[in-house]
Formats: sequence, structure tokens, C-alpha cells
Amino acid sequence: MISFEKLADKALASHPDADTDLLRKAYDFSAAEHAGQTRRSGEPYVTHPLEVASLVADMRLDDVAIAAGLLHDVVEDTLTSIERVEELFGPEVAHVVEGVTKISTIPFSSSEERQAENFRKMLLAMVDDIRVILVKLADRLHNMRTLDHLPEDRRLTIAKETLEIYAPIAQRLGMKKVKNELEDLAFRHLDPRAYETLRAWVDRRRRATQSAVTGLRRTLERTLREAQVPFVRVESRLKRLFGIHQKIKRQRISLEQVYDLIALRVITTSVRDCYATLGIIHQTWSPVPGRFKDFVAMPRANGYQSLHTSVVSDQGVQFEVQIRTEEMHAVAEEGIAAHWKYKEGRVGVAPDERHFAWLRQLLDWQQEVRDPGEFIHSLKVDLYPDEVYTFTPKGEVKALPRGATPIDFAYSIHTDVGHQCVGARVNGRMVPVRTRLRSGDIVEVVTAPGHTPSRDWLNIVVTPRARHKIKHFIHAEEKVQAVELGRKLFDKELRRFDLNAKSVLKGEALSRVAGEFGAQRAADLFAAIGYGKVAARSVLAKLVPKQLEEKPGAPSIGTVVRRILRSSEEKVKVRGFDDLLVFRARCCNPIRGEKIVGYVTRGKGVSVHAARCPNVLNLLYDPERRIDVVWDKRADDAGFVVLLGIQVEDRRGILAEVTSKIAGLKTNVLKVEASTSDRQGQISVVMEIDDLKHLQRVIKVIRGVPGVLEVERRMR
Ligand code: MN
Repeated sequence: MISFEKLADKALASHPDADTDLLRKAYDFSAAEHAGQTRRSGEPYVTHPLEVASLVADMRLDDVAIAAGLLHDVVEDTLTSIERVEELFGPEVAHVVEGVTKISTIPFSSSEERQAENFRKMLLAMVDDIRVILVKLADRLHNMRTLDHLPEDRRLTIAKETLEIYAPIAQRLGMKKVKNELEDLAFRHLDPRAYETLRAWVDRRRRATQSAVTGLRRTLERTLREAQVPFVRVESRLKRLFGIHQKIKRQRISLEQVYDLIALRVITTSVRDCYATLGIIHQTWSPVPGRFKDFVAMPRANGYQSLHTSVVSDQGVQFEVQIRTEEMHAVAEEGIAAHWKYKEGRVGVAPDERHFAWLRQLLDWQQEVRDPGEFIHSLKVDLYPDEVYTFTPKGEVKALPRGATPIDFAYSIHTDVGHQCVGARVNGRMVPVRTRLRSGDIVEVVTAPGHTPSRDWLNIVVTPRARHKIKHFIHAEEKVQAVELGRKLFDKELRRFDLNAKSVLKGEALSRVAGEFGAQRAADLFAAIGYGKVAARSVLAKLVPKQLEEKPGAPSIGTVVRRILRSSEEKVKVRGFDDLLVFRARCCNPIRGEKIVGYVTRGKGVSVHAARCPNVLNLLYDPERRIDVVWDKRADDAGFVVLLGIQVEDRRGILAEVTSKIAGLKTNVLKVEASTSDRQGQISVVMEIDDLKHLQRVIKVIRGVPGVLEVERRMR
């Protein structure tokens, strides 16, 4: 266990002007407040804050942070108030202690909604003063080191939380050493058997390869000296257990296939020497193609810089080499904490810009994002950076998550560029919006003025920003449509009872009842009807309860005529695409020109079925939810996807004949499958069809092919 004197020495080592009186006072106070308390291990409680403070000192944080480390549990675990801490140690120390106390009371294993709120609190604490999260990480690290003493259920909860929240945050702050230790400790508790097996195996491998590794290291040192490339040291490292575990799981490989178990690392004195060293290494051993990565020219978002390459030794052993300067090395190991080593003055409140920018950005999103699940998703994407580095035509680097598309890229430039994105030129070639970008791609977004995002994009994009902007746009659009649809449904209901809109909606009538349905304004109430959340009939019942009670008798001739005249306005228009609130039912997938019927669903708008659809009979038992629909005149949509099933005689060449006939009618064939059984062949063709007439022509020509026995349209 560390003594207070050692802690004070550590503090002075990185901050010669550190206030050791403050630390002494904090230590004495903490010891007195926690007096009589013991940890599960049986040790006096104060050992914990002392160890935490020591870890904080190792991060080279200032005296305020170290004092906060000593005091971090007094408010939560003793009778001391935060006011008392402030009185004794000043507002800065109290502020950090308060922040850590708040984070400690956050239960992360709660529902998603609560979790999102809790994340938000933690982020706020981080942006407010980064020392809060660093002290918290130190606290968590010491708790993980001493986790053995807790009962199993507590251990599992804490280990899981560590793996899901604290390790990724350490990673995002670039604190690799902390992250690695947290992960390995969590892994040991969550899956003890896998951990043990792996540990034993790695131990054996280490012993077996020790002399070979030493040989490689000596060779490298000698070669560098001969070439007169200066270096600080060459080290060998073993991959972390959790890292190997993840790799095996992710790539579904066996232990023997983990070739980068052992790696060499060269610490150089300058960036220039990094590249010189790389050259020497590639001359000495054969590089493995595709394994060279330059994180020096293109640092990772968390500030990590290094050159990576894999080579094959003369004995055929493949291994990785990392090359970096001492400063890069410090940043790689300690992340945000390392910056203070290289910068003068008191630190803590304004950490490295890059890390800060990330936090701010995240905070911005979370304020905009209403759906907590969505926010958690964003955060998870962002906490596990697996990035590709792309460029604008001007050479500006855009770091995007793996799997990002031109749409993500476009939204990273500007919301309007995103909305109007219709494609992109990647490295000079036109590509569709679904293309996954790769590191090194030069991306030029192609926009079309007036173009707007579609719901499909949500399945394509991976960045939280793009997702959010698209959803925002669609929601706004959807709202407009819902209001419009709601109005139509309401009018229809009025006509059913032969009521006059003007008299029913006199004055502020609708606004008055809106509140009773949880809507703020009349428009919101129409939207609720349009979304199917509120029935038009219920609204009418509130407005004119009496008239609804009287059963409508036989309509007068005048009424009938009015109804016929109005019926054309009452129809909902359907475009070819699956639209936001009026969508084509998947069961029958009607195409333009077919007879269709609409059905108001609960919460999803109007579903449009083909009149031939067997579901129609079942669905339309509720005539109040039926609504007339017509095809919109617009015909500029892409084709309707139709599946045809064709029965043919088993004859050579018939497949080619059928497909060429279809293609002859300027039909886009998407997929063809053929099989034979019992001397009969089945062909299924998926194609794009413009409208019913087009489909009928296609069916006719197929029927005309000799040997075709039957053609039918299949539902799916
Ligand atoms: Mn603690």
C-alpha cells in the first residue's frame, strides 16, 4: 500500500509547486471521516482514497485533482456535506468531489431511458471539468483491482459496467493503459474460464517464443545502428488478453491464428526517424501487404499516433511493429493525461482541444436527440471508434466510423449537403450512395438542389449525426403529411354523419377539445388522427355528442348527390414508393394501375392493398377504417418490384429465351432463379415494373414462349 509521503512525492514530481499542505489536510480529513470504516478486504477504508489519489497523481493531474481523489468518497460514505468540503478545501476541490459523487450514484444498468439521462449527466460533468471523469476512472480502476472481495452478483454488475462504459471512455480519452487494465480485469470476472485458458496459453507461448523475440529485437537494434537511424529503445510487447479474446471472437479464428500476439515497438526521437525506421524494417523483413497504417499523418480521433506495419521474419514468423516518438508513445499510453507532461502551467480545466471537441459534439447531439435509445446508440458508435479516414477534394481529412457512406460524409460537411446528396465521386468515379467508404478515399459529394432524404437512408448511414439529421427531416415531413391525412379522415367522418364542417368547427371548437386528446393545437390533433393515434369519430363525439347519437336515417337525394360530388376529394393519393404515411402493403405489393383499397392502421398511417389481396377481406371488416385511395398521377418513381413464378418444360435454352423476352420489353431484371424437378422447371424472376399494363405485356410475352406452362405473380 502506498503511504501519504510517497503520494506527496509523486505529486511534486510532476508539479513542483503542488500544495502538499492541501494534500496533507485532505488526507487527514479523509482518514478521520472514514475512521472505523473498513473495506470488504478488511483494510481500513482510507487505503482506497489513498490509492485512488495515487492513480490520479500517476496521471500527472494537479493537486486539486489529487485532493479530490483523497476526498472522493467522503460525501457519499460519511456524514460530511459538500458545503463542508468547500469550506475546508475551497470551491475547486469541492466541485470535483461533487462531480465524482454524482457519477457514483448513477446506476448504468437501468432502462435505456434512464441510462441515456445518466450518460448525459456524466458527459456534463466531463465537459464541465475533465478532472471529474479522470478521478472517477482512477476510482473505478482501484475498485476493479480489489473486486475479488465482493459477492458474485456485485462483481458481475460492476465488471459489466466497466466494460461497457468506463473502458470505452478511457479509450476515447486515449488512456490506453487504463483502458487495457480495466478490460482485462472485467474480462477475468465476467468469463473466468475463458480468461484462465487464455492466460495459460499466452504464458506458454511467451516462454516458447521468448528467445525468438529477443533475437528479432537484437537484429532490429543492430540494423538501425548500422543504418545510423537514431532510436530511443526497441521494446517487445504481448497483446492484452481481452484484446486477443475479442479478436478470436470477432474474426472467428483459433488461438493459433492470432499472429500479432507478439509485437515489437520502436521508440524514436523524431517523426522523420519514424519513417526512416519503417524503411529499414521493410528492407530487413518482407512487409505483409495491406498491413501498413500511417496514424502519424492521420491520427485517430482520440489523438493516437503511430506507424503500424506487419512483417515476416526469416523463420516465417509474422509479427507487428509499431513505430512512434516518445511523445506519441506517452499520448498512446496515457492519452489526455499525457498532454500535461508536454505543456506548461496548471491544467485540468481546459484539456486538449481534440478531446474536448469530442465531448462538446456528443453533448450537442444528446441535446438534439429526443429518443434515449437513439442517443445510447450514438454514444456506443462513438465510444467504439473503428474509423476510416477520407478526404475532401481539398485534402481535408474526415474521420468516419467504419461502414460510413457518402451520405455520412455529406452530413459531416453540412446538413444541406447531406439532404441534397444524390451520390458521390469517389477517387474520381461516380458511386451510389450506399457505397461503403474506405480509408484514403477522396470523396466529392454530388448534390441535386431540392432533393430530400428518404427513410431508406436510415438503413445505410452509420454516423449519429447523419441519422439524427435524416430522422429530424423525416419527422417534420411526416408531421405535415399526418396533419393533411388527419384532416381528410376527419372530413370523411363529418360526411358520414352528414355534418357541416363550418358549423362543427365554429370558432375555437377544435382547439378546445385538442387538450382532451393530449394535443396542444388543432394541427396536432389532426396529426394524431393522421397517425392513427386518435379516432376521428372520438373527436367528433366530443364536438357534437348529440348529433352522433341520432342514427343517420335514409339520406336525402341532396345528401347523396353531395357525397358523390365530394367523393373524389376524399381519396388519398398514393405514390409508387412506400411513402411515409401512405404505404403499399407488403402482403400484396400493389403496382400502379391496379385496383387498390386503403385501410387506416393504428399508428402507421394508411396501408394500401391490392383489391385482389386476400387480406383485404379480413382487414376491411371494420368499415370505419376503410378509406378510398387512388394512384397519384406522378409516374417519375422507380419501378415497382414484382416477382413472377414461371412453370416451364425442362427444355434446354428456355431460361435464356424467357429472360431475353422480358429484357426485350425494356424491363429491368433484378434477379433470376431456376430449378428443375420432375422434368419440370421453375423460374422465378424479380423485375422492375412501371405499371399494371407493363406487367400484363410482360406476362403475355412470357406465355408466348414455347414450353411455358404457367405464369403467375407471386406475393413475395
Ligand atoms: Mn471510491
